[in-house]
Amino acid sequence: MKLPQGKIRFASVFLFMLLAANFLMAQAVKQHVDNPGQTAMDPVPDDITHSHRGNPNQALPAVPGPIGQAVSTGHGINYHNGPVMKGTPNVYVIWYGNWNGTGSNTAATRSAIEHFLGTIGGSALELVNSTYGDTTGNVTGNVRFGGSTIVSSSTNLTDTSLRTTVNNAISSGALPRDSNGVYFVLSSSNINETSGFCTQYCGFHTHASLGGTDVKYSFVGNVDRCPSGCESQTTGPNSPVSGQGGIDGMANVISHELEEAISDPDLNAWFDSSGQENADKCNFNFGTTSTCTSTSICSAAGKAAAAKFNQSFGGNDYLLQQNWRNSGAGACAQHL
Ligand SMILES: [Zn+2]
Repeated sequence: MKLPQGKIRFASVFLFMLLAANFLMAQAVKQHVDNPGQTAMDPVPDDITHSHRGNPNQALPAVPGPIGQAVSTGHGINYHNGPVMKGTPNVYVIWYGNWNGTGSNTAATRSAIEHFLGTIGGSALELVNSTYGDTTGNVTGNVRFGGSTIVSSSTNLTDTSLRTTVNNAISSGALPRDSNGVYFVLSSSNINETSGFCTQYCGFHTHASLGGTDVKYSFVGNVDRCPSGCESQTTGPNSPVSGQGGIDGMANVISHELEEAISDPDLNAWFDSSGQENADKCNFNFGTTSTCTSTSICSAAGKAAAAKFNQSFGGNDYLLQQNWRNSGAGACAQHL
């Protein structure tokens, strides 16, 4: 959702900032948020902001020794010494809300998203992430879907209850405790995340020390809650019926957060001088697209709507934003 531009925000921030500077900083550090129109709101994930987290269990990872030649820089995004996720990160899903409901809040959507997560590893788009590394190695571009659990609830989420939801899923044994995992909390469209879903962001990723493990997690809501803000098309290549773009809209936001969580898991590795992580630099930038036709993989509704797509893997077409390729001059790219 496009945010109000310019003067109103500037004036209010200016008048407010002296009294509220500490509060605003504390609010800004919690997560890395994403929205088509909120570039200016992106927090800068730097060491100073981390210190405001106030969590004694959340010490910054030790800065590795002298940066070796393994970390390639100078491609339009900067390295800040933190780790990336290597090997084959496991992706877990917590289905929050009512996913046995109507519209796109269905078992079919759950199945489609889990299939998406099970096949995005090694795809052309995900391999763009292999241009990011730390002093011990590079991201591989591989991803594995590690499982899911359902949390039925009608209660809106807050940033605090989101973290609690992740912690409960792990501590109960519903999902494994995995420092090389990314846990997605995906909420049904009746659920709000009160820190700004649909008004400030479409999703975000962050991390926390839970039970002594550095747990990376992300919130992505069913964007059918706010298609005008968080969907690029209301009928996508996987829409079950016309006007239900939730599957495709969520896949787009999930891929954004997944790429960032892997390349900047602790918010101290890869982002540019504006605080933008790799996927932020290509937010809702899709590059060259194709149109669903009768010979495409797209769903019948997607074909009827002439939906756009730019990636094909796992037996599906998807419209996924590009990612910043960290090589050469750097560029938003659909592939290496
Ligand atoms: Zn982002």
